Amino acid sequence: MSTYAIGADRFVMPAGTMNGGYLVIRDAEIGWWQPDRPDCEVREHPGKTVAPGLVDTHIHGFLDHDVMDADWDGLAEICANLPKYGVTSWTPTTLTASTDQLTAACATIGDNYEGLPTTSASIQGIFLEGPFFTEKFKGAQNPAYMGDPSIDTLEGWQQAAHGLITKIAIAPERDGAPEFCADATAEGVAVALGHSDATYEQAARCVDAGASVFVHTYNGMSPLHHREPGMVGAAMATKNTYAEAICDGHHLNPVAVRILVAAKGAENVVLITDCMRAGGMPDGDYVLGEFPVYVSDGMARLKDGDSLAGSILTLDKAVKNVVDWGIVTPEQALRMATENPARANLIDDVCGFIRPGYAADLSIWNPDMTLSETIISGESVYMA
Ligand SMILES: [Zn+2]
Repeated sequence: MSTYAIGADRFVMPAGTMNGGYLVIRDAEIGWWQPDRPDCEVREHPGKTVAPGLVDTHIHGFLDHDVMDADWDGLAEICANLPKYGVTSWTPTTLTASTDQLTAACATIGDNYEGLPTTSASIQGIFLEGPFFTEKFKGAQNPAYMGDPSIDTLEGWQQAAHGLITKIAIAPERDGAPEFCADATAEGVAVALGHSDATYEQAARCVDAGASVFVHTYNGMSPLHHREPGMVGAAMATKNTYAEAICDGHHLNPVAVRILVAAKGAENVVLITDCMRAGGMPDGDYVLGEFPVYVSDGMARLKDGDSLAGSILTLDKAVKNVVDWGIVTPEQALRMATENPARANLIDDVCGFIRPGYAADLSIWNPDMTLSETIISGESVYMA
């Protein structure tokens, strides 16, 4: 049995932030926090904040690999490199494609995810972004494969994924959307709403039926108008829903993020990256799904039409941005990238919290909210 303790200035714990004290790690798991120095090896991190490992729940690709490639070696390379950005858990994210392509992507992950090295970020689920969307706010989603939601089709993908699908996004104005929300949530799959021109009422009906997340809020959805609140209004006004936000400074004006946090409360906003394959890569030409994309000035854009095509954001940077913009405290920002995404994606039983018995997956932060170190299962796997 190996036991040691981490000393730091702050610990972002589920019940609140602890100032000072020690977090005891036992056998690769979280033990407990205590105020006094324990009688074991202590690793001191003066001036730093200890948070859960980040949970990246909307990420299509990285390092020139894409989830839709259905290439396990590529996914394993993403898993090996995400800890450099504080991420210890993630949910590979698909986009709108043919039923067969989505089956292949799900099978690739479901067949292999348990065999990762212990120094890699864990795959905790799969997020299907599409294909049951509508065309008007399609972004980089291919309308050729869009259709009405089908629980039978979802069950086919879930079988291929060995039950790993944790969330699916649909457009509320599709025929049968509320019924699909009820059926999918009954099967333990969270339903997100996005890439949609829905009215407020259409979105609210899906929330009443069980939908619980809004996909990259403001982006790819009907805007808030004072006589037609639309999808953005539904994201802000519905209770008990989570609103994803891409905080790279390009997808959203920081003021829009401030308004969203004011409307929802920081505890209901989820920081995501929506990172595509050019993340971690130099500027240049890439492909997202079947569409050519160019990357420059921190943005990925479709060559045809210039629409933003995912991001090249990393989650540690999103945390720092919302603090630097003066919108939330460092502790709130860290919860927005750990506890909130874990809850919104129904994976809070395995990650996102510093809780006794959970894997000792941690991110350690400098006072300026740059990442200092990442710990997986009690072992340091990255030091800045
Ligand atoms: Zn999207």
